[in-house]
Amino acid sequence: MKNKLLVVGTMAYDAIETPFGKIDKILGGAATYIGLSASRFSLDCGIVSVVGDDFEKKHLDLLEDSGIDLSGVEQVKGGQTFFWRGKYHNDLNTRTTLETQLNVLENFNPIIPDHYKDAEIVMLGNLSPDVQLKALGQLTSKPKLIVLDTMNFWMEHFRETLDQVISKVDLISINDEEARQLTGEYSLIRAASQIHDMGPKYVIIKKGEHGALLFYNNEIFCAPALPLEEVFDPTGAGDSFAGGFTGYLTQTADISFENMKSAIIYGSAMASFTVEKFGTENLVNHSPKMMAERLRAFKDLTTFEIQLE
Ligand code: AMP
Repeated sequence: MKNKLLVVGTMAYDAIETPFGKIDKILGGAATYIGLSASRFSLDCGIVSVVGDDFEKKHLDLLEDSGIDLSGVEQVKGGQTFFWRGKYHNDLNTRTTLETQLNVLENFNPIIPDHYKDAEIVMLGNLSPDVQLKALGQLTSKPKLIVLDTMNFWMEHFRETLDQVISKVDLISINDEEARQLTGEYSLIRAASQIHDMGPKYVIIKKGEHGALLFYNNEIFCAPALPLEEVFDPTGAGDSFAGGFTGYLTQTADISFENMKSAIIYGSAMASFTVEKFGTENLVNHSPKMMAERLRAFKDLTTFEIQLE
């Protein structure tokens, strides 16, 4: 039997503007990217989410064809799917949210299917902290690892509930701007230390094209992002990272700090695929050969010999 990864997060339609193009409606959402990324590993992955009846069958099929279990996805009759509109600036590292329509997410009451209540790893993707809390409350056995992703929208509007969620998770994965907003600290080392005090033993801070940092006890692991010739659309990079990270940990059933270092490289590889094309296109199409080449590139980029005194 394969190890189980439970993913809770948004399934969405996005409108995206980058310096290279614009699209008014494309499949998106945190759970979508996490699930597609994680499903490239050998595991049993189930999504808990909500969509409206505007959510197209071809998009449900795309997720199911990737081997993702959608029995925890509710489709609300007459409802509209979560919608997000964002614009990337010229450096592609910064973006502005222009519109967030919660729609069916507003009254969502998540139901975890019985067969995912004992998942080894739980990935609480970006969505309302209230839903994240309700999902955690339904687990019947303690997961090996609970990972949380969140963003400024939830920090600004639901901070108290978010703090409750943070106190219950083992690992938080957020970007540098969000870590600073959450703690009020400019130094990422101080921010990570403050987040440790809020609950999570492990803190991952993503720095876009500058890679990611993993903090645990007094140790720090630093992974680069692969310098890419072409970055087309950064949407979903963080979620693809989270999917690769948790997917690899679920497949290997090893949550040691050492194995998390490898998981970060897998996560970074998945993120690098996503940003090269619009939306989920590259996540769906990539092959094991592409993954092997990317892992080799990460290794070449970071390995060096130095004589220490
Ligand atoms: P990322 O670029 O990894 O941060 O994720 C982008 C995805 O997050 C998009 O596909 C959006 O649909 C989704 N998203 C945007 N805002 C939110 C939000 N407030 N809560 C949950 N998901 C969101």
